[in-house]
Amino acid sequence: MRYISTRGRAPVLDFEEAMLTGLARDGGLYLPETIPQMTPAEIAALEGQSYEEVAFRVMRPFLGDTFAEDEFRAILARAYEGFAHTARAPLVQLAPGHFLLELFHGRTLAFKDFAMQLIGQLFEASLRRSGRRVCIIGATSGDTGSAAIEAFRGLDAVDVFILYPHGRVSEVQRRQMTTPTESNVHALAIDGHFDDAQARVKDMFNDFAFRDAVGLAGVNSINWARVLAQVVYYFTSAVSLGAPHRSISFTVPTGNFGDIFAGYIAKRMGLPIDRLIVATNRNDILHRCLSGGAYRPSGVEPTISPSMDIEVSSNFERALYYAYGQDGRAVAQLMDDLAAGGFTLSQGAREALAESFDSGRASEDETSATIARIRETTARLICPHTAVGVKVAGEHLVPGTPMITLATAHAAKFPDAVEAATGTRPPLPLHMADLYERPERVTRVANDLAAIEDIIRDRTGN
Ligand SMILES: *Cc1c(COP(=O)(O)O)cnc(C)c1O
Repeated sequence: MRYISTRGRAPVLDFEEAMLTGLARDGGLYLPETIPQMTPAEIAALEGQSYEEVAFRVMRPFLGDTFAEDEFRAILARAYEGFAHTARAPLVQLAPGHFLLELFHGRTLAFKDFAMQLIGQLFEASLRRSGRRVCIIGATSGDTGSAAIEAFRGLDAVDVFILYPHGRVSEVQRRQMTTPTESNVHALAIDGHFDDAQARVKDMFNDFAFRDAVGLAGVNSINWARVLAQVVYYFTSAVSLGAPHRSISFTVPTGNFGDIFAGYIAKRMGLPIDRLIVATNRNDILHRCLSGGAYRPSGVEPTISPSMDIEVSSNFERALYYAYGQDGRAVAQLMDDLAAGGFTLSQGAREALAESFDSGRASEDETSATIARIRETTARLICPHTAVGVKVAGEHLVPGTPMITLATAHAAKFPDAVEAATGTRPPLPLHMADLYERPERVTRVANDLAAIEDIIRDRTGN
């Protein structure tokens, strides 16, 4: 399996190289040259299989010969053994025809664990074989960072540096990043927004001298292996509701477009997905773009669903690549236009996106009201990101087509917002009960590339 860049001017890589690299050297994102297909019979045969078995069958064709079959099975077993639910991604019913896919039973209580735990095991297996050392660097609006740290803490061949926006992540998110004691874990609090942190990470990847000196590797949601890991739960959930014999729609609380793009890949692989609905909070640039055609950042505002406070939605580039007929040059032009202020989709691209995607937004009040309503109608506490999804899904329900909304985090990860909406403070699960007592360790940095690079060189001895 060969991987190509969305901008068409980076070396073609195999799965292992694309995974270790993250961002392509032309600034683009890696995608498989062709998307493997699953027949209806192969999809039907997933019914009743374990999560790990479905993961094996769905992902295996994308890996080429990077890992032997037994090795890949062992990697999957290690990746998901720490989850607190044997189904890994259980499906529960919210209302007639509307289901919640619980993606928060991993170690850091958000869906990011699905990809990150797997990537940790994939990296370890690959680096052990080659004797290489890498420096993982990521920007986070909260959940990616804690998931990455949890996946890489204590591994021999990896240092992990996570940039998060100072003062803009929840206390639970921050403590999950600042309390691990392993010396290969480095939490950096940057003065700025998530988009600043993400931009500095991109800058580091584009500083080739630095990138090669420290052995930079990216595990942000741009990493193809992360997207791939997320394709799996679209299959497990759709099959449990009757796919491939009927179609299913999904609503996905969206920020960087990684999770919903995984759904798009599942659809292109042959899973009968009717609609993929992008749900945004008041930072609604994706909703505006999908409904009106213009992608023009206007400033990020903080919300109670902070993991979606994003305006430069990196994985959207992958959707644009397909919407523009796999024309890397057109994508590169759009990204240049974005750097200069924004772009407007061509009519053809709008129509191509509309074939798969719908969108909607939830205001802060609507998000809180949804948390309260779900509490009243189901006795269930949902996190604010999930609530954004549930609100938007409610506007897209179609009789006869089940709707699955992705529950992207545990309510206890955002206790203030949930308590404000319901009067009930969601308790942390047992394995995290002492989080508020553990000492924190963090380095504050300016929003300045050279300053950040100095810290990383210093800590890694490069
Ligand atoms: C990361 C995150 C999102 C957004 O996911 P994307 O893949 O960036 O679109 C939504 N909800 C939660 C809880 C998250 O951590």
